[in-house]
Amino acid sequence: MRVTVDSLVFTAERQRLELRFCCESCAYFFAEPDARCAHGWPQAEHRAARYGATDERRAEVVFCKEFELG
Ligand code: SF4
Repeated sequence: MRVTVDSLVFTAERQRLELRFCCESCAYFFAEPDARCAHGWPQAEHRAARYGATDERRAEVVFCKEFELG
């Protein structure tokens, strides 16, 4: 699911609510040895690094339909 957000607001809310939605917090993610998804899904849009600092106010958050809090 793709949601367009104000990146400054989203970053603040993400920190305040301790929102977990990236692969690194997912039960199906195996960091070792090769940072893979147990289901073989592409991860580029779901990794935490995608949501780093940016000067762009408008951003797109991409939620994985199979995310399971690990
Ligand atoms: S199920 Fe989705 S969120 Fe979980 S590791 Fe795979 S791609 Fe990432």
